[in-house]
Amino acid sequence: MTPEKDVELVGVTKAYGQTVAVDAIDLRIRGGQYCCLLGPSGCGKSSTLRMIAGHESVTGGDILIANRRINDDPPARRGTAMMFQSYALFPHLDTRDNVAFSLKMQGVAKAERRARAMEMLDLVSMTAYAARKPTELSGGQQQRVALARALMTRPSVLLLDEPLSALDPFLRGRMRAELRRIQRELGIIFVHVTHSQEEAMALADLAVVMNDGRIVQEGPPRELFNRPATAFVARFMGGHNIMEMDGRTVTLRSDAVRLSRDAEAGRRRATVRDVEYQGAQVHLNLATEAGEEMAAILPERTYFSDPFAPGDSVGVAWAPEDIHEVRAGA
Ligand code: ADP
Repeated sequence: MTPEKDVELVGVTKAYGQTVAVDAIDLRIRGGQYCCLLGPSGCGKSSTLRMIAGHESVTGGDILIANRRINDDPPARRGTAMMFQSYALFPHLDTRDNVAFSLKMQGVAKAERRARAMEMLDLVSMTAYAARKPTELSGGQQQRVALARALMTRPSVLLLDEPLSALDPFLRGRMRAELRRIQRELGIIFVHVTHSQEEAMALADLAVVMNDGRIVQEGPPRELFNRPATAFVARFMGGHNIMEMDGRTVTLRSDAVRLSRDAEAGRRRATVRDVEYQGAQVHLNLATEAGEEMAAILPERTYFSDPFAPGDSVGVAWAPEDIHEVRAGA
């Protein structure tokens, strides 16, 4: 965690004509951190990433890498590399030569660039596929090759734009774990754009939630989940009830909701609307007497020891310390 390796954004703004895509954001990503930029479509994540990469000009503010202002540097001089969502591998080159390509451009001799490509393929567990062409690889394998290719220039910052979105859920989970392992092994900063809060929670040391061109909250995923700053963050992270209580807006984790058979017993009376089995847990949607919607998540075994059915009247309760107050606004 050496400060001289940080990526720092200072008042960074991106405007496309009248559209302000990124609105004066400040962010420091520390050396060695896995950072996820998270938020709904159009919130400015990709624009932020592309400005760091140098694929998009900066309208205002400064970007620093290792204490050096890089706004005007060409992409190749920034020490960054980008792994694209579309793998964009060369169809006529085999895996090894695809990975070695950037070194060929730099004029590195064949034997050396092939040796270095093989090291990189080892890192992404693709040594056995060195001689295959892209069409002979699965989507997940192509992804690994694209990752190896991006890492070949020995970047100090790897930028990833929705790298897992084209994969099926099983592969996505495996590749996610691989990304985290490789990031740890290399010890470099990864900045990963995603709209999936699950992905960000699984990967990030630093999760940055954006909305409408601004950073709403940043921190370790657990902090964002347990102490969302606004109702927007709570909704986006999921798993929370957002309620009005004594004129305040508060959140309550769905898994902190307690249900009882006695409708009089809790703080609210509600009717079970529907029940969704999800394996390890069961989700219940409730409608309170006052017309609020609430969600409760019960561990599978707890639920089935005395299952509730749609239409049942229940008492809804919670511990006072599970109520978390959030700031008004987005
Ligand atoms: P995200 O990655 O979070 O989906 P983007 O950074 O791609 O968001 O886009 C942020 C905003 O900027 C959106 O309103 C989008 O329509 C707009 N935008 C992005 N790229 C361009 C562009 N090249 N020209 C004009 N508007 C753009």
